[in-house]
Amino acid sequence: MNKGIVIKSTGSWYSVKSESGQTIECKIKGNFRIKDIKSTNPIAVGDHVEFRLDDQEGDDTTKPVGLITEIADRKNYIVRKAPNLSKQSHIIAANIDQAFLVVTINYPITTPTFVDRFLASAEAYRIPCTLIFNKIDRFNKEQTAHLDELIETYQAIGYRCLKTSTKKNIGLDTLKGWMTNKINVFSGHSGVGKSSLINKIEPTLNLKTKEISEYHLSGMHTTTFSEMFELSFGGYIIDTPGIKGFGMLDMEKSEIGHYFPEIFQRLENCQYYNCTHTHEPGCAVKKAVIENEIAESRYYSYLGLLEADEKYRN
Ligand code: GDP
Ligand code: ZN
Repeated sequence: MNKGIVIKSTGSWYSVKSESGQTIECKIKGNFRIKDIKSTNPIAVGDHVEFRLDDQEGDDTTKPVGLITEIADRKNYIVRKAPNLSKQSHIIAANIDQAFLVVTINYPITTPTFVDRFLASAEAYRIPCTLIFNKIDRFNKEQTAHLDELIETYQAIGYRCLKTSTKKNIGLDTLKGWMTNKINVFSGHSGVGKSSLINKIEPTLNLKTKEISEYHLSGMHTTTFSEMFELSFGGYIIDTPGIKGFGMLDMEKSEIGHYFPEIFQRLENCQYYNCTHTHEPGCAVKKAVIENEIAESRYYSYLGLLEADEKYRN
């Protein structure tokens, strides 16, 4: 039995990079058991699969063709809601080692609310997230001081942070080191410098990312297509429409606090085990906010998510 990792999915064909380094075009066995019953697709990029070479199609004149027979359990996966099928979702990618959220405090502005929503989603998805603060060459003293404060806030919670500049080549080697031998996803607003960072670190990807976006402009396969690119220094980068800022999960109101580590950590000190950290007496979280142990901006993001959730339910 051959083993490999899915590096491209068109919805009907899957490119599998085998352990021996070959890329095999595979189909799925007809009666394939869908592991995640809520998803419209059984397999996504990042999936570890077993396959056998198919004799019928794999004669001497064509490339060998594979038949996927097994899919390994996923450590995580990200989904997108399938259009018009409210209960169903589409798996975009699986087994992601880390997400890099590229943030610019200006040009364009990335708000703390956006950052916190993203981080909470990543926590819910169980994807470790690193914050990349880009364009630091553009900031004056005041902005830099503000940036350093932000970094202190997020580092105190436990998030890894890095300052970068693609213009001045700052932080790029560190970022490259962190990406090595991992399955990586880059997210962030348009214009923050995601392509610039990736192209500086891996110049050969330039063309490929262009190809993929043009492919998508054609409107074909947009919901089923996904791909990840191998990095020359080891590892992968997932580049797929819909991944730029992976969507908020529908979280239960009571769950939202679980995805703010510094809030969740204090829940056991709240008077009520099911404290929502809003109106309850004896709340350790509100106390920590007052004492500046939890950043006000984080607490406000948390409250914002609670309200968003309420709206969602109405
Ligand atoms: P993306 O939409 O996130 O992929 O952003 P791009 O990589 O296309 O970058 C958007 C713009 O920001 C381009 O004009 C880049 O040249 C510029 N840019 C990217 N990184 C930096 C940086 O570190 N410093 C400055 N000053 N500009 C940058
Ligand atoms: Zn509380």
